[in-house]
Amino acid sequence: MNPRATKIVATLGPASNTPEILYAMIEAGVNVVRLNFSHGTADEHRQRAAMVRAAAQRAGREVAIMADLQGPKIRVGKFAQGRVLLQAGQAFVLDAARTQPGDEAAVGLDYKNLPDEVQAGDVLLLNDGLIVLQVLRLEGAAVHTQVVQGGELSNHKGINKRGGGLTAPALTAKDMEDLKVAIALEVDFVAVSFPKDAADMELARQLCLLANPYGAQPALIAKIERAEAIPVLESIVLASDGIMVARGDLAVEVGNAAVPALQKRMIRLAHTHDRFVITATQMMESMIHAPMPTRAEVSDVANAVLDGSDAVMLSAETAAGKFPLETVREMALICEAAERADQHDLESDFSGKAFTRIDQSIAMGALFTASHLGAKAIVALTESGSTALWMSRHKVRIPIYALTPRLRAQRRMAVYRNVHPLLVDSSTDRDTALAQAEQHLIGRGIVQSGDVYAITCGEPMGTPGGTNMLRISRVE
Ligand code: PGA
Ligand code: MN
Repeated sequence: MNPRATKIVATLGPASNTPEILYAMIEAGVNVVRLNFSHGTADEHRQRAAMVRAAAQRAGREVAIMADLQGPKIRVGKFAQGRVLLQAGQAFVLDAARTQPGDEAAVGLDYKNLPDEVQAGDVLLLNDGLIVLQVLRLEGAAVHTQVVQGGELSNHKGINKRGGGLTAPALTAKDMEDLKVAIALEVDFVAVSFPKDAADMELARQLCLLANPYGAQPALIAKIERAEAIPVLESIVLASDGIMVARGDLAVEVGNAAVPALQKRMIRLAHTHDRFVITATQMMESMIHAPMPTRAEVSDVANAVLDGSDAVMLSAETAAGKFPLETVREMALICEAAERADQHDLESDFSGKAFTRIDQSIAMGALFTASHLGAKAIVALTESGSTALWMSRHKVRIPIYALTPRLRAQRRMAVYRNVHPLLVDSSTDRDTALAQAEQHLIGRGIVQSGDVYAITCGEPMGTPGGTNMLRISRVE
């Protein structure tokens, strides 16, 4: 049976923060560990990253690390009692000038600009949309509202505006500091929260370069989670290496019902532009408390796979849930079953397409030939990982093994759908490299005597973007 193509991103948190659980989660199939920079100090992130690297090494797996920046999540302040219960119909004030803890009538705000960015009639959604407030009027720094839908509101819960329009820049001062920490930890991915346009992503890229001008750069992920991002989606995709369908905040801003169609559109767009895409949030939500997912969650994960997600993500399920390990196992099973059922026509992907790059056409040639021949494996000898990325933009049932001498390239490829990255010795001689590759595949039990595989490489060896050769081999 083929190895699982869809990758799993798991968020680290109190429920998974020990070497033992983390190791077991990696064994169960986690490919990328997400460090949530909304919580914890630089020292804690350092310890967590070291723990991930150690657990990955112990498991003998390539596991990437994603640093997820907090971004300008707008939040209420603290309450004197930690929480209040809001009743529909009552008045409630969000007061940017308030310094004392909140109560049933009013609460402070960490985002002081909120009163400038709302007007009477706006609908504000708190705590992921569970609480709905309508803005009645503004008085200085105080936003007077009426509770439309009540519920429990506790410390630091998030605020969104229906339809978007809150203008906080995507990278806060805290994010810029966190970014330096992330770069120093050599994380593989940096996720930017709430980008509203391509410029937000470009700024993040500049900051990464500044933090480490001569070193390897992380891949940048745009979390698509605010209404403003939707009309300029394509330019955000082009400014990023990958995107995240961040359904939590997105649903609050654009309304739940709009999200499934947007998910499909985002995934298609990412594929069109050779970017990777992660589908996130509430995928296995009920498993925070239960050892088994709901039928609807099973379908949601399966459909995200069928839509073409490179990876599916777990948030609170692994960060704070009771069953982190079971959740990863269940998710892996759902992905595998969906992949087996996937009907996809590779030819229709190619029809009418022209390729301008030699390396890209070699990658497509490998897919075409391997699938028509019924090859056992597709192998890419790759420096940067681009060949593997292009190959993985199309659905084929044959696993793609990406052999690279670069550790950073190997870890970045951990998120690509159907790509299994392996680290090999670098070699300048083509025939040696090809022979080594075959030994590697045989040694890992990927191919055996009589099996046919397709392999791509570049000559001269060792030049990123230099793939210019496709060979079909039969193992003797
Ligand atoms: P978060 O982002 O979990 O950092 O809020 C994901 C989302 O909003 O879906
Ligand atoms: Mn979010």
